[in-house]
Formats: sequence, C-alpha cells, structure tokens
Amino acid sequence: MGNLQQPNANDATQTSNRSRSVVPCSGLCTRCMDTCRGNCEVFKSSFRGREVIYPGPFGEMTAGGDKDYPIDYSHLNIQGYALGAKGLAEGVEGNPDNTLFPMVDTETSFGVTNRIKMRVPIFTGALGSTEIARKHWDSFAIGAAISGVSIVCGENVCGIDPGLERDSSGKVTHAPDMKRRVEAYRRYREDGYGDILVQMNVEDTRLGVAEYCVEKLGVETMELKWGQGAKCIGGEIKVDSLDRALELQSRGYLVTPDPSDPAVQAAFRATAIKQFERHSRLGFVDEEGFYAEVQRLRDLGAKRVTLKTGAYPMRELAMAIKWASNAKIDLLTID
Ligand code: SF4
Repeated sequence: MGNLQQPNANDATQTSNRSRSVVPCSGLCTRCMDTCRGNCEVFKSSFRGREVIYPGPFGEMTAGGDKDYPIDYSHLNIQGYALGAKGLAEGVEGNPDNTLFPMVDTETSFGVTNRIKMRVPIFTGALGSTEIARKHWDSFAIGAAISGVSIVCGENVCGIDPGLERDSSGKVTHAPDMKRRVEAYRRYREDGYGDILVQMNVEDTRLGVAEYCVEKLGVETMELKWGQGAKCIGGEIKVDSLDRALELQSRGYLVTPDPSDPAVQAAFRATAIKQFERHSRLGFVDEEGFYAEVQRLRDLGAKRVTLKTGAYPMRELAMAIKWASNAKIDLLTID
C-alpha cells in the first residue's frame, strides 16, 4: 500500500515542494537544494517554527484532512430497484402513484423524554470559537432554522468573547456573541422543529456557560464534549494581539507562546511573533463524574443533554456508548 498522504507539503499549511520528485515517506524533494527558496514545511518551519502546523490564513478558511483512505464512501453504491416500497403506512400497498419521491417523509426526532423533531436527519458540525464560525454563524443558523434541522454551537464561544462579562467568582453574566447566536437561530426557527445545542468543555464548565445559557438564554439542549479542536492538543484558534492573548490567559486558557513572558512580549513587538495560539484542556472523563454532570445539567433546567465524542479508540467508544445509555442522554454523536 502506498502512502495515504504525502507529508511536508499541503495547501492547508500553504506549503509546496520545489521539485516534482518527492521522497514518499519524508516528503522532501529528491534533491533538497541548498539554494532552495522554499516552500515545503521543513523549509518554512525553519523560519516560523511550529506556527506552520496551523492551517491558514486563520479566520478565513476551513481545513479538511486529505488522507486518501483505501476505502471510502465513494466505494458504496446506492442500488435502485424496479418494484416494491418500504415505509408506507400499515396495510398500504405500494404502487406507481403512492411512491413518488417527493412523498417521502424524511422527518425524524431525537431525545429521550423531551423529544425534538427535525425535518431531515441533519445536524451541523459544531461551530465554535473559530473566527470563520463566528463570521458565518448567521448563514448557518438561519439556514438550519428554516430547514427544520439542528445547529450545534461549539465550545469556548463565551470564553473568547471580547464583550464577556463575569461576576466576582469568574462566572459568565453576559456573553453577547452567545446571545446573538442563540437569537439568530431562534428568530427563524420553525416551531417544533430543530434545536440549538450548546457544547461545553472544561473551560466552559469553569466559566459557568451552562448556567448562563440555560438560565439566562433559555437554551434547552446542552452538549458535553469529550475532546475538541485538535483533540488532545485542544488547539482551535489564534489571536493576533498581545492584549487578547493576555485576556484569554487570564480567563484560564493555555496560550502559547506565553504572552506574560517579557521575552515573548518583546518578540511580539518586534513582529518576530505575529500570533498566539489558544488551547483548551483535556477533560479526563470518569464514569461517576459523567453521570453527576449530566444530572447537574438536568437540575439546571436543560431539557436535553447530549454527548459528542471525538474519533477515539475502542476504550473511549465503549465508554461513550455504555455511559450514555446508563445516563439516558438524549443524543450521542461519534465524530
Ligand atoms: S527545502 Fe526546498 S528543496 Fe528541500 S525539500 Fe523543501 S522545497 Fe524541496
């Protein structure tokens, strides 16, 4: 089996090889020239360090993985059939007149006790604190609302909001961007169809995002999250001002390079450092803690509690399915 993805050059990192001949396992050009003017990842990172691993330009694009798996959905084929129909009402026989495709009912619902209907079985991906998600929220929210499907608001939306207000114990009292997001979806939502799910990670929990969303904004569905962004690294966003970096650090986020370090501050002023990365924490889930958190959210007034997990190995997958079943959560998404 050949390489599934060529390393060392990718449009996501805005890098490319000088030569057409490339060593498959390293991604280096077959002739790596001392006169090269770039621009592979090795070349670029010798100047810009780990900054290169971030897809860019930040805030203006969405990156996908282009690993070419040996099996993918393109190998599946939907086979048609010449007669017969499924899903008709009890006792109704299919015929050419009652099986026209616009008659198909795509409606579905999710939830255990407080079920919510959807026109079609679609959720958006989680649109969280990235700049691209913030900028295009209205398009997604209104589109989801008028289509009768659900939208997922990702983590850290309150935590990175420049307009965030907190009380003396650090809990959210006002988060204008979260409020805007909830209102944009609600304004166009067809009654009874679709819902907005708000995700929570460690930092959101510490900031009291659930209390704010459920009690002040009337959000009905809170989503717990096992891992986010770059999973164990938890990297999602960048900021390009020292003040913003210090602000996020003061709100409990891991910010790299350390904006409190005088040497880093001097490097930023000299433009050697242009941006800071904001990372969030790994949750360290445990069974009793999970059940307690689900109950806490229900006690706050959340009508539905859902769980989304990352692409984890078998251990976490088994934990997610078993614990979610035991806690009777309303939806489990395996991402
Ligand atoms: S430094 Fe230049 S020549 Fe060497 S692998 Fe990178 S792009 Fe190719």
